Amino acid sequence: STRRTLLDARDLHAWYGESHILHGMTFTIPEGEVVTLLGRNGAGKTTTMRSIMGLLRKREGSLVYDGTETVGLPPNRIARLGIGYVPEERGIFASLNVRENLELPPVVKPGGLTTAEVYELFPRLLERKGSQGTKLSGGEQQMLAIARILRTGAKLLLLDEPTEGLAPVIVQQIGEIIRTLRAKGFTVLLVEQNFRFAATVADRHYVVEHGRVVDAILNEDVPANTAKLQEYLGV
Ligand code: ATP
Repeated sequence: STRRTLLDARDLHAWYGESHILHGMTFTIPEGEVVTLLGRNGAGKTTTMRSIMGLLRKREGSLVYDGTETVGLPPNRIARLGIGYVPEERGIFASLNVRENLELPPVVKPGGLTTAEVYELFPRLLERKGSQGTKLSGGEQQMLAIARILRTGAKLLLLDEPTEGLAPVIVQQIGEIIRTLRAKGFTVLLVEQNFRFAATVADRHYVVEHGRVVDAILNEDVPANTAKLQEYLGV
C-alpha cells in the first residue's frame, strides 16, 4: 500500500560549529511506519535526529514535515508541529518522581494520550508512579522517556537507541511497546546498532555512512541482505 510521506529529507547537510557532519541525507518516512537509521558509531544517526529537531543551528537542504519546511525553524516551533525526541541519555529528572517526570513536557498539539492512557500502555510506570527518577531501572527510565512524549501530541517519535544497555527481556518489552505505538498510528524513527532487533519492529531501514544514506532496505528484504548489513555495521 502507498502511504503518505510524513517526513521528507532531501540533501540535508548539517554542521557542529565548523565540522560538516551530514553530507546530503536523503530519505523519506511514510506515515504510520517504523523506520530505522542503521550505521556504525559516528555515522551521523544522532546528528540526523538532532537536525530534525532543529538542535543544530547550521543546516542546509530540505526537511519537510507534514507539508511544512522545517529547515530554518527553531526547535520549539518544530516540536509544536508534532515531533517528539527521546535522546539516548533519556533526560529523566532524578529529583522528580515518575508522575512528575511524565507530566513535565508541555502538550504541544491536541490529540496526545491522557496520563491514564499512558499508564494503560505502561502498567509498570503506574506501579512506580511515586518513585523518584533515581530509583528506576534503566528499562523503567527508557519507558518513562518514551511515555512522556506520548502526552505531548507528537505524532512522529524519534527514539535514539532505546535498547542500549538493557537486558534482553527488557529489549523485548521495548520492542512490544514500539509495535503497539505503530498499531496506535504513531510514526517512529529509530536509531539502532542492532539490526536483528531493528528487524523485529521496523518496516524499512536506511543505512547511514559518513553523513549520507547509502542504502535503503525494506524489512522483508533483511534476510536476503544479512551479509551486506553485517558488512555495513562491521559486525
Ligand atoms: P553514535 O552511535 O556514536 O551516536 P551516530 O551515528 O549517532 O553514532 P553522531 O553522534 O551523529 O553519530 O556523530 C556523527 C559525527 O559528529 C561524529 O564524527 C562525531 O564525532 C561528531 N559529533 C557529534 N557530536 C558533536 C558535537 N557536539 N560537536 C562536534 N562534533 C560532534
